[in-house]
Amino acid sequence: MNKIILTGDRPTGRLHLGHYVSTLKRRVTLQNSGQYDKVLIMIADAQALTDNFDNPEKIRQSIIEVALDYLSVGLDPSISTLLIQSQIPELTELTFYYMNLVNTARLYRNPTVKAEMQPKHFEANLPAGFLCYPISQAADITAFKATTVPVGEDQLPMIEQTREIVRKFNSIYKDILVEPEALLPQKKVCRRLPGTDGTAKMSKSLGNCIYLADTPDEIRKKVMGMFTDPLHIQVSDPGHIEGNTVFTYLDAFCEDRHFAQYLPDYACLGELKAHYQRGGLGDVKFKKFLNEILQEELEPVRKRRAIYEKDISAVYEILKSGSEQARAIAAETLDEVKDAMKINYFADTALIESHRHKYEDETPA
Ligand code: ATP
Ligand code: MG
Repeated sequence: MNKIILTGDRPTGRLHLGHYVSTLKRRVTLQNSGQYDKVLIMIADAQALTDNFDNPEKIRQSIIEVALDYLSVGLDPSISTLLIQSQIPELTELTFYYMNLVNTARLYRNPTVKAEMQPKHFEANLPAGFLCYPISQAADITAFKATTVPVGEDQLPMIEQTREIVRKFNSIYKDILVEPEALLPQKKVCRRLPGTDGTAKMSKSLGNCIYLADTPDEIRKKVMGMFTDPLHIQVSDPGHIEGNTVFTYLDAFCEDRHFAQYLPDYACLGELKAHYQRGGLGDVKFKKFLNEILQEELEPVRKRRAIYEKDISAVYEILKSGSEQARAIAAETLDEVKDAMKINYFADTALIESHRHKYEDETPA
């Protein structure tokens, strides 16, 4: 069986450090590993419209931002196919057929949808499209027969929903769809990076992000304003590591070599943490350290972005040709699906012949 990756992001803004540590960096490694027959990276605009239907301009403006972020981290359009979801109508058609395979109670139970619904206060005005977006995600994944979906932890319920749909489809109709596996970041801390404000998840919708395209000054200001330990008032006070966002980010980004370079008083993160817990270490010192690490990590990303920013038409061309290539694959799967579901009337000569026989041959002239 072919090894195929499908993953993507909603164009609701620029991409941030949460995306970077959980999937973006990994995608580049997987792309360059040569172990996959196909790598498809999707900008999920139709999904983003399910809860931004009244603000289409935001989605429209964000497509290029996400595409530039992709290219800036090193996704290479000569290896990976970059596509825009809405440009592949086959995905919408598949979604409609899969809707019959899922009941509404199951959709209301989805923990990610539940969590995302809460701050939006939809209540009785919950858009049906939003409730059903896990089904459309199943269509995206299965249309390309993806085997592997690199994602953050919040997406696990979506992959589970996809697997259920695949099993149901294959058992009712025909065994043609592929059950995908989620690929989570190896480091636990990268599976759900908190926001700079200390909230559970860095998220474009929550305004608590460090963006890949932020300027050095923006990064520094955000790091210096990050949530740490509210009980650590005097430098001499013992500090807490758990829930301390700066330490969480250090867990995600820091390597021992960074100490020799930027903070030679310590050999490793364990030593720095121990000092904080003992008391006597001020927030500014380890915030500055984190800032150095992030500046080093994001500088090449920003530089690559600047190159692509100078040729925006080429970026749109990459998306157009990627969408066309992806559409051809999705169309093949849709044909198979319609065949399995017996909605292939005009291609089924046996059907036409049997009806011809029933009516033409047996109806007296
Ligand atoms: P939105 O607020 O519009 O939902 P988002 O910031 O949650 O945006 P998505 O486009 O929904 O971003 O997510 C794209 C991918 O990035 C998914 O695989 C998701 O799991 C991952 N991801 C998003 N935010 C984080 C985070 N803070 N930590 C780890 N992974 C994340
Ligand atoms: Mg999200």
